[in-house]
Amino acid sequence: MKDATKGDGVRFSAESSTAYSEWALQHGGEISVMLLSWFDRSARNLPWRSVRDPYRVLLSELMLQQTQVATVIPYYKRFLLQWPTLLDLAGADDQAVLKAWEGLGYYSRARNLLAAVRAVVEQHDGVIPCGEKDLLQLKGIGEYTAGAIRSIAFGLPAAAVDGNVVRVFSRLTATTWQPADLAHRRQVRTLVEKVIPPDRPGDFNEALMDLGATICLPQNPVCADCPVRSSCRAFETASVARFPDKKPAREKPVEQRTCLMITKGGLVHVNRRPDHGLLAGLYEFDWHDGALPLLSAGWPAVRTELGQLRHVFTHKIWLVDGLRIDLMVNPDTNWPDHFDDPGRWVGPDELKTLPFPKVLIQWRDDLVVALSSV
Ligand code: SF4
Repeated sequence: MKDATKGDGVRFSAESSTAYSEWALQHGGEISVMLLSWFDRSARNLPWRSVRDPYRVLLSELMLQQTQVATVIPYYKRFLLQWPTLLDLAGADDQAVLKAWEGLGYYSRARNLLAAVRAVVEQHDGVIPCGEKDLLQLKGIGEYTAGAIRSIAFGLPAAAVDGNVVRVFSRLTATTWQPADLAHRRQVRTLVEKVIPPDRPGDFNEALMDLGATICLPQNPVCADCPVRSSCRAFETASVARFPDKKPAREKPVEQRTCLMITKGGLVHVNRRPDHGLLAGLYEFDWHDGALPLLSAGWPAVRTELGQLRHVFTHKIWLVDGLRIDLMVNPDTNWPDHFDDPGRWVGPDELKTLPFPKVLIQWRDDLVVALSSV
């Protein structure tokens, strides 16, 4: 287990709880009071905060993973309108859920959400459990989300530690924790559990989230406005820039791809991606290699270059060149016999109902307009 070094030489270690207890005793009370009083004055007005309902907390927390609050808000509202209760969502059509998630990215979250609410229906009579062990059994729920649900929806003294909270505590304690390091997150969790006020655990966690999102920013934290400045060791020692410890970012491999939007008459050819793996279950146009049999068919066509799009995944980057190929053939013309077509032809009305990955949405929307006028 890795330890992180504290600025003044003291260590928080996984094995000994003394340092945590001492720090909590010295600073926990003041931090809790100052943070909550700031939260009472300045909490962000977010739609999922109006009702402390486990379903809403689950929905919002899954949407917020790796995604900005401003991006999530309209999706969250639309989901609640379409599926107001957990039971509604559990009974939803998979494709309709992927469609509603379209553009939010990290689509595995949508599939996890569906699997989680269905498991709640099957194994917990439709009631989201409050125990950490039960929550961690649900797809897409890790320690952070379990802590958020337990503290916010059930009022239990559970920590919810993500990279932002690690950053804040790294600075408060002047400890070289790394936000992405799981061992360090556990150490911060131990510390948060010692300072979390039992009467307002959800507010405390949300106050930490707000502090990390609006004041204790990754770059240029606004220490002058910080409610817990007087307990911040990094601020006191003018060493804020040293915390948290920054792991050098690994360079992501770049994949160059060519996307072909092949049309005939008012139809375009689409494929559904496999049920597992990257962008599972979403629709897409043809990739250059997959469409080679068609390209070699020698049909007359008009080609239009659509430029290049860049999409960043967690582990790689796609650079996608877009090429629209309008086949000048009768729409009834079939593929060459030797080509076993894995996809199908759709018109604009169906095209706009299919869930597409974010990187292809603009081209898809442009095609809906173009095909509607054919
Ligand atoms: S004083 Fe500055 S570095 Fe310390 S917790 Fe507040 S914003 Fe973060």
